Formats: sequence, structure tokens, C-alpha cells
Amino acid sequence: MSEVFKGNFTQQEPISEDAIEAAVAVMRSGRLHRYNTLPNEAGEVAELEQEFAASVGAKYCLAVASGGYALGCALRAVGVGAGDTVLTNAFTLAPVPGAISALGATPVFVGVTDGLVIDLDDLQVKIHTSGAKVLMLSHMRGHIVDMDALMYICNGAGVIVIEDCAHTMGATWDGVPSGRHGAVGCYSTQTYKHINSGEGGFLVTDDDEIAAKAIMLSGSYMLYGKHTAAPAPQVFEAIKYDTPNVSGRMDHLRAAILRVQLRNLPAQVEHWNARYRTVENGLRDVEGLTIIQRPQAEGYVGSSFQFLLLDWPDDKIEALVAACLKRGVELKWFGAPEPVAFTSRYDSWRYVDPQPLPDSDRVLKAIVDMRLPLTFSVEDCAQLARIIKDEVLATL
Ligand SMILES: *Cc1c(COP(=O)(O)O)cnc(C)c1O
Repeated sequence: MSEVFKGNFTQQEPISEDAIEAAVAVMRSGRLHRYNTLPNEAGEVAELEQEFAASVGAKYCLAVASGGYALGCALRAVGVGAGDTVLTNAFTLAPVPGAISALGATPVFVGVTDGLVIDLDDLQVKIHTSGAKVLMLSHMRGHIVDMDALMYICNGAGVIVIEDCAHTMGATWDGVPSGRHGAVGCYSTQTYKHINSGEGGFLVTDDDEIAAKAIMLSGSYMLYGKHTAAPAPQVFEAIKYDTPNVSGRMDHLRAAILRVQLRNLPAQVEHWNARYRTVENGLRDVEGLTIIQRPQAEGYVGSSFQFLLLDWPDDKIEALVAACLKRGVELKWFGAPEPVAFTSRYDSWRYVDPQPLPDSDRVLKAIVDMRLPLTFSVEDCAQLARIIKDEVLATL
């Protein structure tokens, strides 16, 4: 009898008792809105912003309603508007091109390497052919490109970098926190990311004007003085009448449960990486299956696992996914002709004109993706790898 995995791939850990207590205290106060504070009380949201800014070494931080909101807000704050072009990854998730399109701007897709990062040669070509002045860089599934090389290219071409760190909260490149190379870093605190408030997000920057505009945009009215991880009032004076209010604030309830989780993030990163390395070790040297090599400089957070089935025919990949599912192992195939659940491909976003990327297609067609929620034990992860290995060898 072959072994079957019993875990649930979308089950996160419960909210801890101390976070629940913090949330209950907010509810008892009745003051859930971020600007509803007592004299001399910063409030949970402002406290969280200060703590998150400190955790990544940023001058300024804004907590918002979602990661997708942070992306759109960052684009607006750096001056992107209707008719502009914005470079972004061909390998990413739908909220990224969605944030660009929502502004009336057009995404220009940059290819993906077999290391699952943005293709820097294609980036250089696309900077020249598109004339775009902004790159929304998605660290998709936590894979971080050589950030020194990327920033050298973008700085040289006068391209502003906004980082989508939905999958890299807690990660680093050469010791620098993810989100701290570009002008703005955006994060998500949605349930499937690294800290969980159901919905939520952050934006960090060191730039006075970007920070002030983002805070005005998020719906601060003329209450920006209540922000503590924010630039001085004079910076707001210069922009407050010219910046629209596009409400997307965070509330005290979510902030209360995030503050507790943020303190535990470094420990959680260790837990994820122990699971990741267990799967990685179990899938090394499996014929037909390519492991993603993680660069030495990358301090990753292994909250999901990807491998490649390069040049496999579609029907074999489908058969493998089906065989694994029968044994309780949920794999997502980025090459599937129809987008399923959270996965989709650059050619499924049909509100953007077609932009063929033949070199990337070979990689995209080969990507298989698996979540690793922390409700899985290390032993569970060893079992996942055994089942996948078995089925790959059986399908080959
Ligand atoms: C989840 C996600 C986002 C958006 O975050 P939400 O909080 O769900 O809006 C952006 N980019 C990527 C790559 C994501 O996975």
C-alpha cells in the first residue's frame, strides 16, 4: 500500500493566544479606526508601522488594507499614471499586473530565468524598447534576483524600482532585507503570506516625498500628524492639496494581531526553512526533475517549494499532478493552459496586449509549485518529497 499524505495545504497556524488577547483589548476599547486614539496614545497601527520599519531598517512605513493596495499606492506615489508603461515580471501573480492596469498604465513583461528570477538581459532590452521609468519587481515565490546587478542596471537607466515582497517578508539579499534595495518595498499580510491578518499590507521607503504621498493616498485626510513612522509635517504641506484620497487604511484590530506575529517572524522563518530543506533534500538527484539552485547571497523564506519538469510533455505533467493529488499532495502547475486557483500566467491577463516571451515559456511551462504551511511538520515534508519522487519516477 503506497503512503498517502493527510495534511491540508491551505491550513495556516492558528492565531496565538497573546495575539487574540491583543485583538480582544482593541475590541473592548471600541477604537478600531487607526485615527481613533486617546491623547498620548499612538494606537496599534502606528506602533506596528514603527516596529515594521525598524525590522527592515526603513525610515518610513505605512500599513494598508492589502498587499495589492500597497502596490497601487506605491505606483501612484512615484508618479505613475494613465498611459505610462511599467516593467514587471512575466512570472508573478495577478495582483501585480492588476495594480499597474488599475492606474490606466500598461505592464511590459520581462522574462524569467530557470532560477525563477527576472531575466536581467531581457530587462535591459525591455528598458530600452519600452522607455519605461518604473520597474515593479516581483520576488515571486520568494526567489530573489541578484539585487546588486539589478539595481546597477536600473540606477544606470534612471528606472525607479518598486519591490513586491509578498513572498519575501523576512528574506534578505546579501544581508539586506528584501524590499530595501528599491525606492519602495511592498508586503502583504494576507492569510497565505508570512504573517496573517486575513488581509493587509505594508509599504516602506526612505524617501520623504514618496512616504508623504503614500500616507495621503491611503486615506489620512489631514490626520497625517498621527503617523509616527512618517516624514515631518512640512513634507505633507507641499503635497497635501494635490494628492487624492484613495482609502486603503489598516485598522487597529489587524495591527494588534500582526504586532505579535512580527515579533515571532525570525523564528517562523527558521521553521519554514527547515521544511523547505527537507523537501529539497528529498528531491535531489531525481531524474527528470530540476531543483532550483538558491544563490549563496539569498536569505530566503521557504514558505513554498518549486521545481521544474523541463521539456516534459503536457500530458505527462498533468498525469503527475493527478497522481500526486490522489496521494494527497497538491501541486500547482504554472504551465496549465487554463489558470487555476491562485496560479495564472502572463498570457492569461488578456487585458494586456499579447507580448510573446518564447524563452520564458519553456520555463513557465515547467514550473510546479507546492505550498509549505507551518502546520506541516518536518516529517510531513519528508513524506511529501517521497511521494513526489515516487510519482515522478513512475510517470517518466
Ligand atoms: C499575494 C500577492 C500580492 C498581493 O497581496 P494581497 O495582500 O493579496 O493583495 C502581490 N504579489 C504577489 C506575488 C502575491 O502573491
